[in-house]
Amino acid sequence: MKYVLLTGGAGFIGSNFIPYFIENNPHYHLVNLDLLTYAGDLNNLKEIENNERYTFVKGDICNRSFIEELFTKYQFHDVIHFAAESHVDNSISGPEAFIRTNVLGTFNLLDTARKLWMNGPNDYNESFKNARFHHVSTDEVYGTLGETGLFEETTAYAPNSPYSASKAGSDMIVRSYFHTYGMNVVTTNCSNNYGPKQHNEKLIPTIIRKAIACENIPIYGDGKNVRDWLYVLDHCKGIELAFKTGISGETYNIGGRNERNNLYIVDTICEILNTKVPLKEGKYQDLITFVKDRPGHDMRYAIDASKIENNLGWKADENFETGILKTVDWYLEKFKVLT
Ligand code: NAD
Repeated sequence: MKYVLLTGGAGFIGSNFIPYFIENNPHYHLVNLDLLTYAGDLNNLKEIENNERYTFVKGDICNRSFIEELFTKYQFHDVIHFAAESHVDNSISGPEAFIRTNVLGTFNLLDTARKLWMNGPNDYNESFKNARFHHVSTDEVYGTLGETGLFEETTAYAPNSPYSASKAGSDMIVRSYFHTYGMNVVTTNCSNNYGPKQHNEKLIPTIIRKAIACENIPIYGDGKNVRDWLYVLDHCKGIELAFKTGISGETYNIGGRNERNNLYIVDTICEILNTKVPLKEGKYQDLITFVKDRPGHDMRYAIDASKIENNLGWKADENFETGILKTVDWYLEKFKVLT
């Protein structure tokens, strides 16, 4: 049995990843380390909490001595690192927590793993010789695109928000541990995720929540910002694949080739709600309200996922139109609106 440290598993993507990975990988035991910030919710993991190959530990990745004790206790064979401060708006109002968790926290994990796994540069302890550190990152590190073009793994980093800058910093530390110490690391940079278990503050849950409460649905600026939307389970499958078969030191972009602007997103969700839970009068679209744009709001993100598709055989199973139907159903159930 291999013990894997998974960080941030009570958040959106981690809590989708854990049940999927445990089901698919009978020889792994996942230890989920999560601080349970406002973004973490153990209710997201009810389905797995009694599984014998799952352990939850509450703690902070920034606490070095605690992290070292945990590595000593479990002798982790691998790390899959999701934990982060992840909401761009919060990074504008309070950037410090982002630098602390995303940069210092990532460094603590990497450096503790290095000390357990390696005797020195390019010299792994025999019992950890295939041990891997998988870093989960974002396409936001590449900055923003104009109307054309795609982010490739070779695109220069140009982060624009404190969130993306802190993730870019963490990516660079991971990169340096490969080049300096020969540590076995892989980084995946993914586009915007959507799906079950996402925090209410994010765009798609906000649209659904406001719509069914018959409140104004806030959309930044003119609603024309474009994101490349990926169903969360497709991201989880990409992480599993890169973790198990990616080449050490490489980065892999993961994206759905599903570019949609915010106007399209809100209109599609309103149309689904018009069918599933019709209003007595009017349409959900009547609730759409444009609000002052986010400072430094990136215009367009789009991923070229050819590398992970061609080299590792990944492909997205959902497109936006199939994934959003499943997502709306999940939130209607969460918000207890029966169709
Ligand atoms: P999330 O905010 O939903 O979850 C983050 C989790 O990390 C929470 O459970 C939180 O309690 C935990 N956490 C925060 N600080 C911690 C600390 N100091 N110590 C331990 N745990 C801590 O985030 P998410 O959307 O699930 O994103 C997970 C990862 O994927 C992040 O690294 C993010 O940058 C990356 N990512 C997210 C998206 C997306 O669209 N959501 C896209 C690409 C990449």
